[in-house]
Amino acid sequence: MIRRNLALLTAMSSALLTFSALAADASPSATIKPSSAAPVASDAVTAATIIHAGLLIAVPGSPPLKDQTIVVRAGKVEAIRPGFLSAADIGEPVAAVIDLSRSAVLPGLIDAHVHLTIGWPPKLNQSDADAALVALENARKTLAAGFTTVRDVGAFSDAIFSVRDAINKGRFDGPRILAAGDIISVTNGHGHGDIAVPESGGFAGFHASGICDGPFECRKAVRTQIMHGADVIKIATTKGGNDPRLGAAPSEMMDDEIVAAVTTAHAAGRKVAAHAHSTAGIDAALAGGVDSIEHGGFLDKGSIALFKKSGAFLVPTMVVLNSLQAGYDRADPQTRAITRGFLDNMPNNIGAAYRAGVPIAFGTDAGITPHGKQALEFLWYRKIGMTPGDVLRTATTNAAKLLGLDAEIGTIEAGKRADIIATGANPLDDVATLQHVTFVMAAGRVVKDEE
Ligand SMILES: [Zn+2]
Repeated sequence: MIRRNLALLTAMSSALLTFSALAADASPSATIKPSSAAPVASDAVTAATIIHAGLLIAVPGSPPLKDQTIVVRAGKVEAIRPGFLSAADIGEPVAAVIDLSRSAVLPGLIDAHVHLTIGWPPKLNQSDADAALVALENARKTLAAGFTTVRDVGAFSDAIFSVRDAINKGRFDGPRILAAGDIISVTNGHGHGDIAVPESGGFAGFHASGICDGPFECRKAVRTQIMHGADVIKIATTKGGNDPRLGAAPSEMMDDEIVAAVTTAHAAGRKVAAHAHSTAGIDAALAGGVDSIEHGGFLDKGSIALFKKSGAFLVPTMVVLNSLQAGYDRADPQTRAITRGFLDNMPNNIGAAYRAGVPIAFGTDAGITPHGKQALEFLWYRKIGMTPGDVLRTATTNAAKLLGLDAEIGTIEAGKRADIIATGANPLDDVATLQHVTFVMAAGRVVKDEE
């Protein structure tokens, strides 16, 4: 709040220019400038960057094209033309020709479920300053892994909004971030009553501004996140993955609380993501009109019917199973039982949703899983029977649609943001190759090039 008031005072005292800058800053959809920028020619036409793509997966789901030229200008894709064109073919000014003729080139990836302010392993009682630094470090790792856009669905610090804005202004390397702020959860619900922080001698309580009971408080909690700068709203209808009741747990939020949160968010143009593990929690969120179910491990046939009716996306975050599996041997009996419950049910249930046509958007829960290793999630999608094309779509076209950004990202097409990555081998032959992204361009700026 102090930061905002100071900004407002500055704006008032220095008139229109500063004020319009503040307004642009506050916009949830503030566009990212093509920072560090291609050189600007004397005639003020921004120079183009030419990319030679050996294999171009421009629109995941459509057949890839061989030997294509992508023309990038002012942070956007200007054109895609067959063959490897030269600077002379394109017409001056051309800033650079990037040779990816031996690579597979595809749209920047999107992770719809991360927690950048949470390091790995998680440490919950950190200061806001720590949270900002942790988030910047994780943002850099995430971008280097080929993820040019992420949705941060629960920080325990407003630092996430500062980090988002600083990256958008080009002050630090990182993916474009849509941020939820604090999770909307009920007293003793997820993140309030179920995450113990031994060092602080109690519970984390890190969603202080998101805790609400009853529809009026939940409206207020949603509006508070939006006031702080939320692009999206996250609610939690069940406790975390450590609830021994697993699929049989009730919904923590009552129907009127869910509906209040969803209608308030939608009225403000924000989508709603719902953390839900148990069947009742998933079904209550879907009936309440949420836009996505996060995790969803214990969805059943009835849940699938609700997904189909509402058009909501499923964001599986199955790579969490790797972390559960890794801790199995040293876990106590109850944690082992929980791990077994997830491993025995989640892959089958997510697979059933996929086969039934529920749209799936890529998400990893990075923060609860390691940042920068997101591509491990793709292996789970293959394991449950997804085609390689559909696997790619989860992190491109599908996730772009869930985020409401499908006009800007998710494919490499004229007019879209130049978020472009490359791999040494064709990910349609083996999705594991996505673990080794060799080239990353974010909004027209090259941030990684191992070619
Ligand atoms: Zn999460």
